[in-house]
Amino acid sequence: MYRAIQITKDADGYQARLAELDDDNLPEGDVTVDVAYSTLNFKDGLAITGQSPVVRKFPLVPGIDLAGTVRDSSHPDFKVGDAVVLNGWGVGETHSGGLAQRARLKGDWLVPLPAAFTPQQAMAIGTAGYTAMLCVLALERHGITPASGEVVVTGAAGGVGSVAVALLAKLGYTVAAVTGRPQEADYLKALGASSIIDRAELSAPGKPLAKERWAGAVDTVGSHVLANVCAAMKYRGVVAACGLAGGMDLPASVAPFILRGVTLAGIDSVMCPKAERLQAWQRLATDLAPAQLARIGSRVIPLADALIVAPQVLAGQVRGRVVVDVNA
Ligand code: NDP
Repeated sequence: MYRAIQITKDADGYQARLAELDDDNLPEGDVTVDVAYSTLNFKDGLAITGQSPVVRKFPLVPGIDLAGTVRDSSHPDFKVGDAVVLNGWGVGETHSGGLAQRARLKGDWLVPLPAAFTPQQAMAIGTAGYTAMLCVLALERHGITPASGEVVVTGAAGGVGSVAVALLAKLGYTVAAVTGRPQEADYLKALGASSIIDRAELSAPGKPLAKERWAGAVDTVGSHVLANVCAAMKYRGVVAACGLAGGMDLPASVAPFILRGVTLAGIDSVMCPKAERLQAWQRLATDLAPAQLARIGSRVIPLADALIVAPQVLAGQVRGRVVVDVNA
């Protein structure tokens, strides 16, 4: 038997509760994992509360990421005792996920836990940190180096933004951090930002082209902020767009793309190919300083509290990352 958060939808409606399950409840898969930690992402908040139709199969265990140890495997790459990490692939949406003491998954989805991290640290990084690394890899792939010029990070005090600032600073980039929370300026400077930009400067409708400011960008916000960032990119600048914290729309013009050769690189962590995931986790191990990870911080909650904290995450009442100790 194992404990899990289980979501059901039936005549009684949509319900999330703490349940005792047996192995018959585990889905198809060639690797069974003893989960150590999961996290509570925005998407998990939507799944637990039912506020958005994130869950597309019932009953289902939520939790889009997890770190743990292989309990049983028929996959050639994994043996009993291996430490592993999982992000995305529809886990926690269409396949039971990490908010449980046990998970059964496809071995092809799993990444070996880098030796640099404990399972708890891997989940403090979580899908947010892994996505930040994918953004940095995209800038590199398109030729941006510290010598290219300043890189801007939007939603900088958030989960993805904080890790992006820390990674870029460690790699030698000059980083401008855009935030709507001026009280986080010292925190962002400690992570390595050289300048702080008030979000208000970028959140109103802007011109198709603005003064050239940045060589690279990591955008977690979308909408007017992304449009204004694109408009202020230097010639041949690169924008890695991964988020929609400010809106799903993109009220922009093609001017930055056709007149300045700007590249808009889309970042998706969920279905990202395995080779790039392996690279992202290896690079996190070398490029995310442990002191910076500690500074970004995370709060650890027991499994049952995921039910209580989920609506708080959606309401924006939780600062920093929430790691779930599924065995507590
Ligand atoms: P957080 O909630 O931790 O951070 C989002 C940040 O965005 C906030 O801290 C805030 O930054 C800023 N923000 C919030 N609301 C607004 C607003 N109305 N206008 C402008 N800025 C705003 O989220 P995460 O960092 O975990 O995720 C960031 C985004 O990336 C989300 O949209 C998420 O869905 C997406 N995401 C996408 C992934 C992918 O695969 N593409 C994977 C993971 C996340 P500040 O306080 O500094 O102003």
